[in-house]
This record gives sequence, C-alpha cells and structure tokens, in this order.
Amino acid sequence: MSKKIVTIVGARPQFIKAAAVSREILKHPDRIEEIMVHTGQHYDPNMSQVFFDELEIPAPKYNLEVSGGGHGAMTGRMLEGIERILLDEKPDWVLIYGDTNSTLAGALAAAKLHIPVAHVEAGLRSFNMRMPEEVNRILADRVSTMLFCPTVAAVESLALEGITRGVHNVGDVMYDVALHYSDRARQASRILEKLGLTEKGFALATCHRAENTDDPLRLEEIIGALAEAARTLPVVLALHPRTRKLLRQFGLEHHLELLAVVNPLPFMDMVALEQAAAVILTDSGGVQKEAFFYGVPCITMRDETEWTETVESNWNVLVGADAGRIAAALDKVLTEKVKCAPVFPYGDGKAAEKILACLTGHPNSVI
Ligand code: UDP
Repeated sequence: MSKKIVTIVGARPQFIKAAAVSREILKHPDRIEEIMVHTGQHYDPNMSQVFFDELEIPAPKYNLEVSGGGHGAMTGRMLEGIERILLDEKPDWVLIYGDTNSTLAGALAAAKLHIPVAHVEAGLRSFNMRMPEEVNRILADRVSTMLFCPTVAAVESLALEGITRGVHNVGDVMYDVALHYSDRARQASRILEKLGLTEKGFALATCHRAENTDDPLRLEEIIGALAEAARTLPVVLALHPRTRKLLRQFGLEHHLELLAVVNPLPFMDMVALEQAAAVILTDSGGVQKEAFFYGVPCITMRDETEWTETVESNWNVLVGADAGRIAAALDKVLTEKVKCAPVFPYGDGKAAEKILACLTGHPNSVI
C-alpha cells in the first residue's frame, strides 16, 4: 500500500537535504506520496526559493510563514501550524531533517499525535548544549521512530543515549547531493568569471552560527581574521543575512571592505566556488562536509564539530573564533600540502534510496 509522508523543511540546509530524498520519492509514485511543508524559517528568496528552483524540489503544499522572533515563539507557532496540517493530512510518517527549530517543531507535533517520525541526520552531536541545534537534535532523536544516521559515529552517539531501535546507518544525504550536482554546478555556474577569480586562487568563507554571530568578540575575531587573510589572497564571503545584520549592529562592517562580499549564493554557484577554492573557512556543518567531499582543505571557525571524521582525516582543522589560530591554519594550508587519510565515512551516495526503502517497508530496507 502506498505511504503518505509529510516532510517538514524550513531552512537552507534542509532544502538541500530534502532535494536528494524528494528526487528519489518522485521515482516511486506508486509507493509513496510526499506532502511538503515549508515552515517559513528561511524566507529570503536567496535562502529559500532559489533552492526549490535549482534543485527541483516539489513546491510546498503549505507554507506556514513563521520566521523571526525568539526560539520559543518561533517553535511554538510552527508547532501549532504543523499540528493542524498533520490532523488534516493524516500521514503515515513525518519526515524531518537536521537540527533547526523546524526539525523540533515537526518532531514534537508528530509525536504528540502518535504519528511516527523519521529523522534524517540523526545522531549528530557536538556535545555543546549551548547550541540551539544540539538541543533540537537530541529532542528530535528522542521521539523519532526511524533514525537515519549519516555515519558510524552518529550510530554510536545514539547508542550512548540508549537509542538503538530504528537506527539505520544510510550514509549522508549531502553526499548524494554532492555526487548529483558537483559536475552540473561546474558546468552551469559562471560565478568564477563573474567575481574575477581563478581556479585555486582564492579562499571561500561563510559564517552564521549563533555562537559566532551573536557574540561581538567572536564575530570581530573572525571577520578581522578574514580581512587579514584578504591581504594574501582574495576572500569571498557569502554573507548570511543574520551575520550581515549583526555586523551592522556591532559596528563591525568596516572589516568587510577588503573582502569580496556576496549575498547568500544559489547552490550551483556555491558548489562551483567550493570546488574551485584553495581553502574554505566556515562554521557551517554542511560546508565542512562539502569541502571534504571535494578535497578542499577546510578551516572550521568553531570549538567543536559534529563531523569529527573530517578532522580525524586531517582535512579539516578546528580553530575556534581566534584570529591567531585562523591565520596560522591558513598559512599552513597554503604552504604545506595536506595529506588526507584515505577513508570515506559518509556512505556510498545512495542514502536517499535506503531512506525510501525503510519508509516504504520495502524488502531492501534491511540495511
Ligand atoms: N550554501 C549555499 N549558499 C551559500 C552558503 C551555503 O548554497 O551562500 C549551502 C552549502 O553549500 C551547504 C548548505 O548551504 O550545502 C549549508 O547550509 P548552512 O551553512 O546554512 O547550514 P548548516 O549546514 O551549518 O546547518
């Protein structure tokens, strides 16, 4: 019998992850029907609509248009909206992604209505409970019936919390996405010409984690270090709207002058730039992994990472929000050849296929 699932997305990384699974779902209309719900958490066209267009994600049937406000107000309004939709749609599964407020709201709404929850990117942990993402993912995992882990480490983290039932190591959906779009992006994007950049002749940077943007001292260290790096090589900063807002609020905008600042990039341009960059500096989870997939050295401006494999393999280095450490890491990357361990911990690029098999109870779901 065909299954009906309601997918909850709301933020940029969720659109990208959902693209892999939705593409797989569309291949099997006899087995599964997907209803897409956009919570509205990210609403700027270049943080939302552009991904639906480029990645051919099914248009949301519902858009709750919930954005802004504190965590409580935002999550609460989403919870209310999602509950209403679930009561109407009566799905067999609610599918949630990652670790945002949209993830938590989807998980809670479904669990209270006794609708099974499937969590893609389950088991990720930073072990830093001050991160809103960590709270969201721990609570989402706790009420999920099916937990799709990207790595062995994620499976082990769940086991430490006593969660072993319904846990499937399917690999990372982001790797499915990278395999599908890396060549297309290189062919389709004109961003290198547009920004006057040469292959391996620039650094690419992103910064948006609350722990960095909401703390003026950390933000100044980071943005100052990027400005300093720009004396050595061009630095492209794809500036997240919240970071732009806080730089203005803290009077730090002057540091942007030396940087090639661009608005949040469409995915094809981002993937093209990632592959062409000499080095990536970021605090993004997804960007750390994309650097790893594309064999580009990564400097992570955080104190810890959920994607420990990238660090263990020597491809990624954690430097915190410390201008001195950022500069030293950059110098090392640009002057020494990085030796990467020949391991690939993120699956075989068929995560979406495995997720679908599990959700539809297909015989191939024994993985
Ligand atoms: N991304 C993008 N344009 C940008 C910055 C990031 O398309 O200007 C993509 C990036 O390639 C990755 C994803 O967004 O696939 C990561 O999302 P984000 O950094 O917002 O969140 P996180 O991964 O930290 O949860």
